[in-house]
Amino acid sequence: MSGSKTRPSDAHLKELGLGRWRHRDSNGTDGAGNEAEEMNDPTAEVAGNVEEEKSKTTTLTLDAEGRHLRQWRIVRKEVSECVLCDLHRTRKNTVFGVGAENTDLMLVGEAPGADEDAQGEPFVGRAGKLLDSMLAAIGLSREQVFIANILKCRPPNNENPTLEQAEKCRPYLDRQIDLIRPRAILALGAVAAHNLLDVETPIGRLRGTVHEMSGSGIPVIPTYHPAYLLRRPQGKAQAFEDLLLLCDVLQDLGSQPVAPTEKSESSA
Ligand code: URA
Repeated sequence: MSGSKTRPSDAHLKELGLGRWRHRDSNGTDGAGNEAEEMNDPTAEVAGNVEEEKSKTTTLTLDAEGRHLRQWRIVRKEVSECVLCDLHRTRKNTVFGVGAENTDLMLVGEAPGADEDAQGEPFVGRAGKLLDSMLAAIGLSREQVFIANILKCRPPNNENPTLEQAEKCRPYLDRQIDLIRPRAILALGAVAAHNLLDVETPIGRLRGTVHEMSGSGIPVIPTYHPAYLLRRPQGKAQAFEDLLLLCDVLQDLGSQPVAPTEKSESSA
């Protein structure tokens, strides 16, 4: 094989959604009909086979990674351009979601408020600060989880999402969940819990137990919305119990242990 060909870097290929090497088919072509130069070198055969197996694995892995990145890019773009419901007329920014794209834990809230609409990021207002403390209480930061909402755009006057808005927006959330494949979802408040579980049971009765997301079967732990906890701080102790339940679920599912520290126990 001539070593003279310039290969694009892995990072660039990934960015384009492409794998690193295309493995060769039984005709010695690269699948696009181009002859394989190194097939003419008999001394390379054994090493070549080993390399080929390795490169197949690498190719498959990188192809899958590339597809994954491409899907993220597509859904991000679609959300940013979405005009499926009237909320696009009043929004300043869409709020796609933020955090780790390969995390075990996803948090789902209701919809962006004024601060989130202005900044294009979920939970950045007062409720967001409390959410950060809640996460810190179980040893996590917002960078380690993925935070999204039922709606990607702010409803004017912070009204509850309508059925139609939630239905139009839902495929975006489902695609995010499919891409992340979290081991568990923390549902923040009644709107998130009702939409994820397809029930109308009051949040006070849903919280405290583990449910399953309709369709995917992913464990959903409902808890009070941080904005509700700001208005009614007495609920914080129950919210903390929900977080401990979440830790148990994640641990049972083999996720990295997240344990509350003595100091953080009182901070949520
Ligand atoms: N409340 C939510 O439900 N989501 C946000 O992003 C902000 C406040």
